[in-house]
Amino acid sequence: MERILIGNLSDHIGQTVTIRGWVSVRRDQGKMIFFDFLDMTGTVQGVILPKNLMIERARNVSRESAVSVTGSINKRPEKNVQANKQNGDIELLIETLDVEGPAETLPFELGEDTREIGEETRLRYRYLDLRSDRMQKNIRMRSEFIRLCREYLFREHFTEIETPLLTESTPEGSRDFVIPSRLHPGKFYALPQSPQQYKQLLMVGGFERYFQIARAIRDEDLRADRGFEHSQIDIEMSFVQQEDVMTAVEAMMTAVVEKMGFTVKEKPFPRFTYAEAVAKFGADKFDLRSEEEKKQNVLAYAWVYKFPFFEKTEAGDWTFTHNPFSMPVSEHVEALLEGKRIPDILTTQYDLVCNGFEVGGGSIRAHKPEILRAVYKTMGYDETRIETSIGHMLEAFKYGAPPHGGIALGIERNLMNLTGETYLREVQAFPMTRGGQTAVMKAPQQLTKEQLDELHLEIKQEKKKKHE
Ligand code: ASP
Repeated sequence: MERILIGNLSDHIGQTVTIRGWVSVRRDQGKMIFFDFLDMTGTVQGVILPKNLMIERARNVSRESAVSVTGSINKRPEKNVQANKQNGDIELLIETLDVEGPAETLPFELGEDTREIGEETRLRYRYLDLRSDRMQKNIRMRSEFIRLCREYLFREHFTEIETPLLTESTPEGSRDFVIPSRLHPGKFYALPQSPQQYKQLLMVGGFERYFQIARAIRDEDLRADRGFEHSQIDIEMSFVQQEDVMTAVEAMMTAVVEKMGFTVKEKPFPRFTYAEAVAKFGADKFDLRSEEEKKQNVLAYAWVYKFPFFEKTEAGDWTFTHNPFSMPVSEHVEALLEGKRIPDILTTQYDLVCNGFEVGGGSIRAHKPEILRAVYKTMGYDETRIETSIGHMLEAFKYGAPPHGGIALGIERNLMNLTGETYLREVQAFPMTRGGQTAVMKAPQQLTKEQLDELHLEIKQEKKKKHE
């Protein structure tokens, strides 16, 4: 029999139907057994009556088993109607119940909320955790957010383009994850910390409006709102100035979150220079909501811009604060080219802040080779080092590079705001543990001797620390 989705059952009152899904609740009342069945569209109550010969077998159907159930959809008597519940006015009078995938005793309860369960257990059985109400909502909301952004960008004539995962290191201020090359002994690829250079090269390549739902992979210290992997809505546009990118992104974010039913506190988004933000909030990310607005999960966006371009490293050298490929603000281009007043040079970087998080950041890029070269010179790179690290960009910019700029919006950080979650792992399907172990599977793993040989690698035996 054709499967009917639980969400559509109210169109089938009086008919015999087959549903497929999971047993989320079983209430054995002796003579009768009640079930709640669940599929991706919702839940419905089923009942098996004493005269049904299957009743004994049904008693052993465990919770979370995958089942196929056939029966008639009946209106419930007035006194049993649950007004506020989906399908609260109907029930499935079970004729047959087939177990398609039996479930053993679960390692933890799949209530509405699994947050209290130990992280190791939750992630080891992530597929079960994902069945819980909250995780279903979070992951579906993530999909919806991405879908709406994508649709918006397509309407605005952006082209979605994928860029390589096996690539050369792009500095984003983090450590790279590296991949040894079998074909080139002793050489390594880096996983992208962002598609920064490729998206700029796509602008030189004439696409003008690019976006990608990009993976960014950074070997950072793990924190509540940081993992090794995150995704970003990565955008780049040609023939634009700072104002154009900020306006375009603001329009997209507003359209998307309002379509999802959220309220934006202030439009257009208020803007603060970095200096103003630090003076006013003591930081470059801040929460503009009142207590009341926090309760209602209002979204308070703001832009922060005019950041210093450079800061000192611990060793006393200059390094970039955000992005070495940025253009300084126009009044400071000359100072950069002359290597003067370095601490005063401001960059065209703009960060999008929402409810206390930085949810995006981008800049107008230095599309003239001499400006990009000056950034690297300021950071103490000599000609040879400039050539090896960004020679390809300097070369590309010789051939009709359009002025361009873009942004990356962190998908997880945006979703944390939309869902009200405080941990990144609540909005990723398969996040890592705090110790950097993958969910369900057991990476990182050792390689076999054969694999190591093929990759021309040898593992150095770490000396045991004394206290071990
Ligand atoms: N590449 C930057 C990042 O990943 C974003 C950008 O400047 O477009 O944070």
